[in-house]
Amino acid sequence: MAAILGVRFHMQWLASLSSRVIDVWANLPLGTAEKTSLKAFLTGLLLFLIVYAVERIYRVRDNDFRSRGFVHDIVYWFYYRTNLNYFLYTTVLLAALEEPLSFLDLKLVSSLPAALQAVLIFLVGDFVGYWAHRAQHSFKFLWAFHTTHHSQEQVNIFTGARFHPIDALWLLLFAYLPLRIMGGSSQIWPWLAFLIWIVNMLIHSRIPWGYGPLHKLLVSPNFHAYHHSTDPAHFNKNFSTGTFCVWDYMFGTAVKDREPIPTLFGLTNVKPTSLWSTLVTPFRLLGEFYLTPVSGKISDSR
Ligand SMILES: [Zn+2]
Ligand SMILES: [Zn+2]
Repeated sequence: MAAILGVRFHMQWLASLSSRVIDVWANLPLGTAEKTSLKAFLTGLLLFLIVYAVERIYRVRDNDFRSRGFVHDIVYWFYYRTNLNYFLYTTVLLAALEEPLSFLDLKLVSSLPAALQAVLIFLVGDFVGYWAHRAQHSFKFLWAFHTTHHSQEQVNIFTGARFHPIDALWLLLFAYLPLRIMGGSSQIWPWLAFLIWIVNMLIHSRIPWGYGPLHKLLVSPNFHAYHHSTDPAHFNKNFSTGTFCVWDYMFGTAVKDREPIPTLFGLTNVKPTSLWSTLVTPFRLLGEFYLTPVSGKISDSR
């Protein structure tokens, strides 16, 4: 009874907090760029509070949020979620690709109703995300930069944004090409991006949810936990990081059912101690990978 009252109290508190945040947000006298950054900040804060409350209910995690790695994740999160990367280089890059890649503008879905466009773009994006991630584990150049994401030993809701800028650029380009071929209304993008962002934070939380009968359909926090596991039996498994995990079952890369849920995360050969080392270590790894012959998959030697 006390537990139910406790959960109800958490929910009421969160509901009133979120309506206050929305009120404050709607009435802020700010320009578009500042609003985008502030919106990201408030959304992140709200999601963090919700996930933190749910994690408390399940009594998971002790002091992970005070670790140095957590601070690094926060910095990455702000960098990407406030669109700083767009201001710095992504906009310039996409503008540079506009003309040379105009032959890709086949606008395959542009004439369809908006809802159908959204569904198709969402599905293709999810599928492409699976292969982009699988490539990050299959090619040594990509794996070197993807280690930044995997080097977090206390995976948390902000780890979903812990990507080396070169790793993030790869994901952007891999998604850009098929989605440009499809076309579609630009109004769909912010909504899809927001949904992907929420799912990305949730699957990196330590909420012990596996989604029961939907565990072979949707990526859950438990499903993604295996992907960050230090157990070699889980290496190069569970690549789906979007909404659906059917791709892993379809292409034989899902961790077997009944495997115990991992509790240890990270890498044995990459342990960055500073934000700077999360950025430069991939370059050191590149030197090692290309100068030292390694047999087998490069991401097996973690
Ligand atoms: Zn990965
Ligand atoms: Zn992850």
